[in-house]
Amino acid sequence: MRAMVLPAARARLQMEERPDPIPGSGQIRVKISACGVCRTDLHLVDAELPNIPYPIVPGHEIVGRVDLIGPGVTMHHIGDRVGVPWLGFTCGHCRFCRDGMENLCDNPLFTGYTRDGGYATHTIVDARYAFPLGEAGEDVDIAPLLCAGLIGWRSLVLAGQARTLGIYGFGAAGHIIAQVAVWQGRSVYAFTRSGDTAAQDLALRLGAVWAGASHEVPDTPLDAAIIYAPAGELVPAALRAVRKGGRVVCAGIHMSDIPSFPYKLLWEERQLISVANLTRQDGLDFLKVAPQAGVRTETTAFALDEANEVLTKLRSGQVLGAAVLRP
Ligand SMILES: [Zn+2]
Ligand SMILES: [Zn+2]
Repeated sequence: MRAMVLPAARARLQMEERPDPIPGSGQIRVKISACGVCRTDLHLVDAELPNIPYPIVPGHEIVGRVDLIGPGVTMHHIGDRVGVPWLGFTCGHCRFCRDGMENLCDNPLFTGYTRDGGYATHTIVDARYAFPLGEAGEDVDIAPLLCAGLIGWRSLVLAGQARTLGIYGFGAAGHIIAQVAVWQGRSVYAFTRSGDTAAQDLALRLGAVWAGASHEVPDTPLDAAIIYAPAGELVPAALRAVRKGGRVVCAGIHMSDIPSFPYKLLWEERQLISVANLTRQDGLDFLKVAPQAGVRTETTAFALDEANEVLTKLRSGQVLGAAVLRP
């Protein structure tokens, strides 16, 4: 197999030839056809996540086919198309797992962070954490659903019943969740980097009622806002845009420091919460909703050995929609 490997903090990924891995008990081997590039991969490369076990293969939006099955696996068969998300393993017995909050498990493994991920031709996966995908849709188009879609979905659920919904950061997750929100009958307000007319045009094309720069405050107060961009200064900006009792959901795994802000922005029962990871149920729910909502991902495909260049593009906001590697 071949893999793009992160050898150390802030290093360039390096192409490596490795022996084909053999799945252990309860595991499957997936031959990867597409792997989305997520902003979290940048936080990984930049060592902004704790305890990274180098060398590590990034990538947690994996689509591929089962090509080898370990002992004891009955839920997948050779040739099945599966999707592999960020959540790679949970312990099953900590208080969070027992209470249906496996996204907060005390002893989890995360694909492409604490276990090798999808910037590769093959990967080994715990069979219980691979979603059956069926045969509808193209692999490249489905890949971004596995994180941008799933964690985006969890953040949308946490935004509650909001009829007017702000989306800050209109990249991979923003453009997917905007489509679901519009399908649900919500009014979407899209906030982008100042002057990013391509993202604003995409938002309006996907049904947003308003698109503008993230420091702007629309005339209509928002019921809720979701922040997908990793910029702490968006927190006070979003609090300013939501109504009394409104909620701001921070959906990223990493964010720059939130600047201090006057208490009156939070006053009147505004709420500020974060989203961590996903549960398998989130995945099953969203993979059902996405086709019903007619979600279409805007993707650009790249070769596996272009991973470094793709990350650079993502960092500078040059990717419209979602970037996907094709191993
Ligand atoms: Zn991700
Ligand atoms: Zn647990």
